[in-house]
Amino acid sequence: MPETKKITLAKYAGFCYGVKRAVDTVVKLKKENPDKNVYILGELIHNHQVIEELGNFGIETINKFPQNGNGYCVVRTHGQTPEVFKQIQNAGFEVCDLTCPDVKKVQQKAIELVKEGYFLVIVGKEEHPEVAAIKANALQYGNKVLVSTLISDLEQHEQDLKEAKKVGVVVQTTQMLTTLNPIVEYLTSISKEIRVINTICPSTSKRQEEAAQMAQNNDLMIVVGSKNSANTTHLADICTEFTSTIHIESEKELDKYQEIIAKSQNIGITAGASTPQSIIDKVIDKLED
Ligand code: SF4
Repeated sequence: MPETKKITLAKYAGFCYGVKRAVDTVVKLKKENPDKNVYILGELIHNHQVIEELGNFGIETINKFPQNGNGYCVVRTHGQTPEVFKQIQNAGFEVCDLTCPDVKKVQQKAIELVKEGYFLVIVGKEEHPEVAAIKANALQYGNKVLVSTLISDLEQHEQDLKEAKKVGVVVQTTQMLTTLNPIVEYLTSISKEIRVINTICPSTSKRQEEAAQMAQNNDLMIVVGSKNSANTTHLADICTEFTSTIHIESEKELDKYQEIIAKSQNIGITAGASTPQSIIDKVIDKLED
């Protein structure tokens, strides 16, 4: 008789509260204002299916907004630079600001640190929109701001950091502790005074801790979510440290991994913060088949 596989779904898989709040609010906004335009500046979440569904509902995702707009322009969970907020308003739109409260908190902390005279280090990916918005907010109040996830980048500014009276650190909400910790250690070794505010969001920390735990107890981890999503790729990186891991965007990709799935007795599933429950369900259904 074939052995039954055990499939375990993570407790913290799929939409986080920031994403759920954004999707629910934007749908409610359109329902309440069927005759008004509702644009989202940039993808609301990293999931094509959700973007398509929103489009079918009359909520258009745009990358540049029309010069003379009317209706609403939604700022997504990553937040935006103060300049873009102004541009949206100047173009004639009403702003619907769905910046996640946890992202707002990082922006506020970054501003506070710069205002208090700290040399700010943002641990994050410079090109990520959330980080760009945090940096732009901080730069309104001072120019001593560095962004990186690499000690080698910071080493290039070691003299400036050493000369700074105090160094303040905030973190992109979806970064990993394993990225933050060595940077803090390095900065501590060269700074006169350091203040670290761990702004990795609770939803991300819980998800990452759970993924690490599960990866230690399963032969295979399946991480479901967009390959463009920072928090999903971090989950895959974490799981890879402990066990065989595959990162898929939908159940269709499972076919490529039949061999490893067949060999694995205990399979754990986790998913990024922008992965809808419907996609997770389809992955489980296909595995169970
Ligand atoms: S991952 Fe965290 S910061 Fe990002 S939207 Fe979700 S709750 Fe907010």
